Amino acid sequence: MALEGDAKHLLSDVITSVGVAAGLWVAQISGWALMDPALALVVAALIVRMGVGLVLKSARGLMDKHVPEVEEAIMAVLDRHSSQYVDYHDVKTRRSGSQVFAELHLSVDGALTVQESHEFTDHLEEDLRNELPEVTITIHVEPPEEKEGRRGP
Ligand code: ZN
Ligand code: ZN
Repeated sequence: MALEGDAKHLLSDVITSVGVAAGLWVAQISGWALMDPALALVVAALIVRMGVGLVLKSARGLMDKHVPEVEEAIMAVLDRHSSQYVDYHDVKTRRSGSQVFAELHLSVDGALTVQESHEFTDHLEEDLRNELPEVTITIHVEPPEEKEGRRGP
């Protein structure tokens, strides 16, 4: 975002210089004195638009918005392994700069050992890392009967 801001700053300098030069030139040969302020207004509007766009974009980056394309990729990886677990829920993602953090709950056969379910989640994490290296995922393993909201007998 900082780089993009710098780039736009440079670009706005170019636009201002070109605008001022063109305005003076046209005003001089046409004798139309309003040309200069008119072009100045156009240039100002362009710069304001650039600035507002940049502010909105940085704000989105700071708002912990979810990342739908990563959620889809996670579900695609899970779908390929659907015979190895019972269910999944609470897939959550959030972007933090160039990184994406993700988490989900995975219901597996309650008879699996800790070792086995750990190996499986490691495998899922690796599959996902191969597709999306910027994603760090945490998988919470639980037995099938453990569904939030209706715990206990
Ligand atoms: Zn859960
Ligand atoms: Zn796999």
